[in-house]
Amino acid sequence: MRGASANATPLGRRLAAVIAAEGPLPVSHYMAACLFDRHDGYYSRGAGLGADFTTAPEISQMFGELIGLWAAQSWIDLGRPRPFSLIELGPGRGVLMADAWRAAGAVPGFKEATQVLLVEASAPLRQAQADRLAPLGAAPRFLDRLEQAPESPFVLVANEFLDCLPIRQFLRTDTGWRERLVGVDATGALAFGLAGVPLSEDSIIPPPLRSAPLGALVEVRPAAEALVAELAIRLHQHPGRALFIDYGPARSEAGDTLQAIEAGRKISPLAAPGLADLSARVDFQSLADLGCSLGLATAGPTGQGAWLQALGIGARAERLAAANPQRTAELSDALDRLTAAEQMGELFQALCFSSPGRSAPAGF
Ligand code: SAH
Repeated sequence: MRGASANATPLGRRLAAVIAAEGPLPVSHYMAACLFDRHDGYYSRGAGLGADFTTAPEISQMFGELIGLWAAQSWIDLGRPRPFSLIELGPGRGVLMADAWRAAGAVPGFKEATQVLLVEASAPLRQAQADRLAPLGAAPRFLDRLEQAPESPFVLVANEFLDCLPIRQFLRTDTGWRERLVGVDATGALAFGLAGVPLSEDSIIPPPLRSAPLGALVEVRPAAEALVAELAIRLHQHPGRALFIDYGPARSEAGDTLQAIEAGRKISPLAAPGLADLSARVDFQSLADLGCSLGLATAGPTGQGAWLQALGIGARAERLAAANPQRTAELSDALDRLTAAEQMGELFQALCFSSPGRSAPAGF
């Protein structure tokens, strides 16, 4: 695939120059640059989000409210620890945490015990999150990385965070697994190619996909695996839970799922470096298997629709509609988007890791 207007952006031109000088880049380097280049990265600029795609918390307040109540229930299950950290990875515009904080605040003792910690790489989004939470008295602390979180019992939530962690892609060829790279073609435009040398062994390929047919493309996400490993250390040291919600299948599948969205439209991932949001489907089975192998109590993956229904989203929608009859149609539409199988209900999964020996979390 070729990006027709590949070098039309400042970041595209810089990447093409780096590639010309130093050779092709793994897809993960390309993705990281497009999203987080200090000057020209999609999230560093803070533009787009909301205009390019609408996430579950932005569809309806019900999503964040149920997650807030789920977090407060988890805090109770963990023995109402104080101090306690409520951590969110990649809070976007802060909508989920604002709704969660309002809902969880109804649980006696929760707010007094809880420090909100937001792990956010983007400066403009940090500002948006701080602005949204300030009137609610949540006083969030910002962190660059989870490793900086204080040692304490915790609940972590992350919605549509894993999907933007960089992926590597490998193609099964008759000479073995070869990494897909981003290079430049004869015209100087960014173009996909393959590493000249295959992998010497296939340990990086998820076990269920090692026997994929010739021509299959497999994605791996080293940063997500590192995150689960870091969480495992924390969950062994402190009682806690970590909830991930994202798009992706419940079982590992081969396929090229790298996608770029600009102004609500799908474009080639190479077409507008830094201007489009890049993401790829999350391999929930691999992450769940990793969590189990690290000794964590693992629940899910469960479809988002079933999970929200189990938490009572239907009753919540009815209560809101009874209190605001003029919003009935809007609430029923939001309920449908969040839970219907052909909408987000089955495309998105929820996966939860808990400290060893902990009971199953609500909703699973
Ligand atoms: N959770 C939000 C937004 C999802 S967009 C929602 O549901 O609406 C992804 C978010 O993750 C953005 O806030 C982005 O800046 C942040 N992000 C992505 N990778 C990150 C990383 N490695 N470290 C910190 N924040 C990251």
